[in-house]
Amino acid sequence: MEQSPLLILGSTGSVGEQAIDVARKTGAPVLALSANRNAKRVEEQAREFGVKACAMADEAAAADLRVRLADTGIRVYAGMEGICQMIAEQNGENAIVLNSIIGEAGLKPTIAALQAGKRLALANKESLVCAGEIVMKLASEKGIEILPVDSEHSAIFQCLRAGGKKEIKRILLTASGGPFYGYTKEQLAKVTVEDALAHPTWKMGAKITVDSATLMNKGFEVIEAVHLFGVAPEQIKVLVHRESIMHSAVEYTDHSTIAQLSVPDMRLCVQYALTHPQRTPAVIPELDLTQIGALTFAEPDTDTFPLLRIAIGAIRAGGAVPAVLNAANEVAVAAFLQKKINLPKLFRVVENVVAGLEAEAKRESTLEGIFGFDAYARIRAGEEIAK
Ligand code: MG
Repeated sequence: MEQSPLLILGSTGSVGEQAIDVARKTGAPVLALSANRNAKRVEEQAREFGVKACAMADEAAAADLRVRLADTGIRVYAGMEGICQMIAEQNGENAIVLNSIIGEAGLKPTIAALQAGKRLALANKESLVCAGEIVMKLASEKGIEILPVDSEHSAIFQCLRAGGKKEIKRILLTASGGPFYGYTKEQLAKVTVEDALAHPTWKMGAKITVDSATLMNKGFEVIEAVHLFGVAPEQIKVLVHRESIMHSAVEYTDHSTIAQLSVPDMRLCVQYALTHPQRTPAVIPELDLTQIGALTFAEPDTDTFPLLRIAIGAIRAGGAVPAVLNAANEVAVAAFLQKKINLPKLFRVVENVVAGLEAEAKRESTLEGIFGFDAYARIRAGEEIAK
């Protein structure tokens, strides 16, 4: 099949590097790259794929990259504005923007990609968590189908090919449960940063690994699924599935449940987003179910891990409440990674910031308003951490 040229955003992060590997293995052309600060790695990637352009969010890193690439004709853009400008200016037939930027910083590039009319493979879940209604409305106005790269949403996207939207009864969203599955609140209070970063099955960056350990990531994924698939929060059932083999399922109105299974490897999610609706030869190992033996499923413990419950409350409240939740969590996770707070404190910071801003934030639906609440929630989270 004809391969679409890629613009890989966040190319030095965990998903970005896996996207680079998929491009290498499938021979997909890479048109452009963006990253935050790591100019050395971007230079290597740019030379390997012979890209047309690169963008660095950090201005000093952009200046460094310009020097590194001075012998090439590669254009280097700088800053968030530069990333968005690169998305608008770098064109190729059927080009796909793969957004694997981490955090709220991924939202503006998502909007830039949709405004430029480019197909969007989305690994940045914050785009949908913070501004899901705005992003989905813009995609529908532009006639663009968003291709999910998150493993659960890729699974649901694949399962949805088995039935119509009106035939969906509910979505079974699986969660690994993280490294602290089965812990009591007392045990959770004692876990260290090192404990949290030891994820049982998925290889990911530090921020999302902590979010997986707290089930915040699953809460974000519920919000993501509500927007992507147009279902009510009540139609999503979170299931703890320790083996990470079934990546989610869709139960239809006739009670037939269609699931997607594979070894846990993000490269399949990237590949499917790039080749949908077709399938191409594998870049990941095959699944041997006889080696797995058994698949288990359990209810999540939202008493010990309250962030999943808070996230479901946030999407029910709507407006800018999910953006407040995300901002408070980003600040609290950074404080946890710096060993300033423990996990119970992280939960309290997020819960208090959301509870304090919910009444105002739920009435806000503009992008400017969302950015305003994002900034305000970060300040509030800082105050809660200092308490
Ligand atoms: Mg996921």
